Amino acid sequence: MRKLSEKSLVIASHNQGKLIEIRALLEPFGYQITSAAELGFDEPEETEDNFAGNARIKAHFAAKNSGLPALSDDSGIAVDALNGAPGVYTANWAETSNGRDFTMAMTKVWDRLEDINAPEPRVARFVCTLCLAWPDGDDLLFEGKVEGRLIWPVRGANGFGFDPMFLPDGKTQTFGEMDPAEKHAMSHRSVAFAQLVACLRDA
Ligand code: IMP
Repeated sequence: MRKLSEKSLVIASHNQGKLIEIRALLEPFGYQITSAAELGFDEPEETEDNFAGNARIKAHFAAKNSGLPALSDDSGIAVDALNGAPGVYTANWAETSNGRDFTMAMTKVWDRLEDINAPEPRVARFVCTLCLAWPDGDDLLFEGKVEGRLIWPVRGANGFGFDPMFLPDGKTQTFGEMDPAEKHAMSHRSVAFAQLVACLRDA
């Protein structure tokens, strides 16, 4: 497996919630980190129908434009009773003419489950695919999942996106209620990061 020997890394994201979590996860490794947003890059269109494909698009776009290795995260929530939706389209479900509205998106998901009278528990999982891409076109993919169920009403103001609606298996607090460190220790993103770390540590 290729190692990340470079000391600088671009996070290929414009999502503030993800940037905060990824910086916290990478901090101990001493990289000089910047983001695609800080470099003024546009967001490339995510045209694939799977997490790995879209993660590749974002990481290669940032690596090519910056001349530095770039790390992207494509993630979302997949609900069993909705045949895996919103899945790769999770962010799209929150789009409004005034930006993203996750209260609206969570309400939409719950309303769909009510409409089809989906049985409880309403099983769902967060999925994360990380892509580490180099300017020469090489890349590595890492995947993580966390299983749980959706609850209503939503609970908690921590985290971002669908966190207040997601109760991980074996826990009494939603991701929105948990201390961020507790979420980081078990999230889909941290599972994917644990694999990436093997590539960072040996560099
Ligand atoms: P994308 O990967 O930028 O296409 O967007 C993924 C979307 O999934 C985000 O905008 C969030 O709504 C949701 N998402 C991904 N990871 C998390 C998480 O850790 N907590 C809550 N929502 C998440």
